[in-house]
Amino acid sequence: MQCQLSAHDEGEHFGLLTDTGAYGTALWLRWYETDETELIVLPDCPVVAPGPDGEGCCLFADHAKQHTWEAGPEEASCTI
Ligand SMILES: [Zn+2]
Ligand SMILES: [Zn+2]
Repeated sequence: MQCQLSAHDEGEHFGLLTDTGAYGTALWLRWYETDETELIVLPDCPVVAPGPDGEGCCLFADHAKQHTWEAGPEEASCTI
């Protein structure tokens, strides 16, 4: 399981498990450096990139760090 957030050194990590739940939500695995893990259902991030072809963000609402469309292409880890 790989963290979906942009590179960061501390705090919680989030890995996407499945996006097939209720509309607008996804099942995430949250873990800490201590290897404590937790399954949580989170609403999708509603923020899209500016512009007519605004790309959607692959993360969850109120996530830390950048939206996936703000990160460089090599960092974009959207698996949906
Ligand atoms: Zn992380
Ligand atoms: Zn976002």
